[in-house]
Amino acid sequence: MPFNADRYDRMQYRRCGRSGLMLPVISLGMWHNFGEKADHQTCVDMTKTAFDLGVTHFDLANNYGPPPGSAEERVGRILRDEFKAHRDELFISSKAGYRMWPGPYGEWGGKKYLVSSLDQSLKRLGLDYVDIFYHHRPDPDTPLEETLGALDLIVKQGKALYAGISNYRGANYVDAVKTMKQHEWAPITIHQPVYNMTNRWIEMDLLKHTDSHGAGVIVFSPLAQGMLTSKYLDPMKPIPEQSRAADPDGYLKTEQVTPQLIEKVRTLAKTAEARGQTMAQFALAWTLRDPRVTSAIIGARNPQQVTDCVKAAENLRFTKEELAEVDRHFPV
Ligand code: NDP
Repeated sequence: MPFNADRYDRMQYRRCGRSGLMLPVISLGMWHNFGEKADHQTCVDMTKTAFDLGVTHFDLANNYGPPPGSAEERVGRILRDEFKAHRDELFISSKAGYRMWPGPYGEWGGKKYLVSSLDQSLKRLGLDYVDIFYHHRPDPDTPLEETLGALDLIVKQGKALYAGISNYRGANYVDAVKTMKQHEWAPITIHQPVYNMTNRWIEMDLLKHTDSHGAGVIVFSPLAQGMLTSKYLDPMKPIPEQSRAADPDGYLKTEQVTPQLIEKVRTLAKTAEARGQTMAQFALAWTLRDPRVTSAIIGARNPQQVTDCVKAAENLRFTKEELAEVDRHFPV
């Protein structure tokens, strides 16, 4: 089946800071549910459903799995089998920062690790280049010059089109920008922080900096790994079997799904309903209410969740009362 001819009319695209890059407001990430034990056909269906709805951006990292590397391998297979004619319509990212192989060169921010890791990612993905390559987490021990110099090298070699950083706090980000400018290196086009109603740190510490330096912001875990959806609201089945919290490989632990949090979500789900949105759509739309947020990267376990999430983009406007309601439950 060919992809929908009107897929680009269905999605909104935002400019990433002051760059030439446009990203869909909803992107799809492969941190969970694309590893070795995933059902391949479901993964194919999720990626094809997303692309059909105008989601042009897939977010990966070297360590996504489990085991690490397996999500990139699976997406490599999907790109080869399903998207061969569409590489130039897709925006694929990868990252390095977390442990990938034993010994002193298998994690953090040294040049040897970053360059070798991207070479491995490109092989797994079957690509000549990724569209964004991120340093995944700040490295307290490696000089920033070395890490950022490696990103610049990778961009100059054409192995990545844009450089990004992830999980850097505001002050780290500003240091990184100064370093790039001082050396006239490739700019940091994009920052990838966590952002959702339960974790609002970027409002205080990041957005003013990225905005003034012209970088975009793509937020991860906008649904707080599923807690900001109606997934955990059934009192008879507080942790459904088919959920990240029930999955031994899932990063979300059962004890994080507290009754206090669920009570707040239960109340907000009513506000969502009054707006004509599901709780997931409401939580996603809320992260996108600020135009300085370029895109929100969702995770999904099936194509229905992708479709539900993408519909969030149909209403990104909030009344003062709705915003106050969120603030009351989840203050900044
Ligand atoms: P989310 O907060 O979007 O959580 C995804 C989970 O929410 C899904 O697995 C599913 O849970 C649930 N969900 C999604 N849509 C719906 C829906 N419509 N209705 C009900 N439940 C829904 O994001 P993730 O935590 O998965 O992170 C997204 C991406 O961000 C990652 O894949 C990765 O690309 C990136 N990321 C980056 C990090 C970094 O350090 N840079 C760190 C973490 C993520 P369930 O499986 O329970 O059904």
